[in-house]
Amino acid sequence: MATDILDVIRTKRDGGRLSDEQVRFFVEGYTAGTIADEQAAALCMAILLRDMEPDELATWTQAMIDSGERLDLASVGRPTVDKHSTGGVGDKVSLPLAPLVAACGAAVPQLSGRGLGHTGGTLDKLEAIPGWQATLPTERMVAQLRDVGVVICAASDTLCPADRKLYALRDVTATVEAIPLIASSIMCKKIAEGTESLVLDVKVGSGAFLPEIERARLLAETMVTLGQAHGVRTVALITDMDTPLGRACGNGLEVTEAVEVLRGGGPPDVVEVTLALAGEMLALAGLDADPAAALADGRAHAVWDAMIRAQGGDPDAVLPVAAVQHEVPAPAGGYLRCLDARAVGVAVWRLGAGRSRKEDPVSATAGAVCLHKPGDEVEAGEPVLVLHADDTGRLEGALAALEGAIEIGPEPRQPRPLVVDRIA
Ligand code: URA
Repeated sequence: MATDILDVIRTKRDGGRLSDEQVRFFVEGYTAGTIADEQAAALCMAILLRDMEPDELATWTQAMIDSGERLDLASVGRPTVDKHSTGGVGDKVSLPLAPLVAACGAAVPQLSGRGLGHTGGTLDKLEAIPGWQATLPTERMVAQLRDVGVVICAASDTLCPADRKLYALRDVTATVEAIPLIASSIMCKKIAEGTESLVLDVKVGSGAFLPEIERARLLAETMVTLGQAHGVRTVALITDMDTPLGRACGNGLEVTEAVEVLRGGGPPDVVEVTLALAGEMLALAGLDADPAAALADGRAHAVWDAMIRAQGGDPDAVLPVAAVQHEVPAPAGGYLRCLDARAVGVAVWRLGAGRSRKEDPVSATAGAVCLHKPGDEVEAGEPVLVLHADDTGRLEGALAALEGAIEIGPEPRQPRPLVVDRIA
């Protein structure tokens, strides 16, 4: 019997399982343009409300992979391992991590995205470096991986085109948060890019996509299962995102902080998450190396320089600084109990570091620097944050986002560990 899109939508609307044929009919038809956006939107909403069975999701993910090309990285000559973060505020970890793991002997093929909403995107950060190019033809990407050991670049249009269309649709139909849709969207791209191993950094807390630990854990388990089913060795760490990671939030500011880490310094929380993820990546790649030593002795920094140069950037360029800097004071004296990640993320976005529509430009200089972190003792009126903007008109919206974001109390709050859980 011929498959019909209305039957597909009805099946899921009524809580049924889509057959393999129905899944393939939908993914192929939507990619080819024979299924309309409104029909795809109805199906995404039905999936959000009704969920998917594991084998149904496996077929869905396979169909998304099959919608485009699958890279073959066999010629790279080193074990390949990638990392993906579900996104956070101040999460610049990919920047030091990818060259660090390459310095330890792996090849890191990191196809990254741009920021949307209050979380930043790796490509936007790297584009703060003068001359750096995000877009590379596949042959150059593979050659750089072979020669330098690491490439961070935009995924080509031919990788999972079904996801490109579906993600844009989900973004405007309030269907981003469906766990099977997030898991398949992330994993189809990572599987199609051809990496042998993958470490996922699933963020949990106010600044994360999924603030609750149960949902973050379910997402992590779903992605690990999908990766392993497709032959990609996959591990997930669940890491805290209640407060911004490190001190710098915003594109150029985060690059500067990432370089501090690569020089053996940087904020302890950024270093801790970087080393935890590096340890997992090296173990999956079967490499016995000490990533802390590669940070301390400059090997990771040397690979960073080579990576930036290979993509047209000048790693020695002094990054521009925002014209406007505005201090946000502590509302009282005592211990900083909470500096809310989501509020800081929204403020940074309103300052110009993020975009509302995918074609919007972003500022390289806008952002915020956290002068204090939860646990610090502060005096009333002492600056806690410095906002960076290209014009003063940006400040009002950012300050409104920060209302209530700084919580001060007589005692420090016991923080949860940075690495909250590990799913393998
Ligand atoms: N990142 C993705 O690539 N897809 C999602 O659905 C969510 C985050």
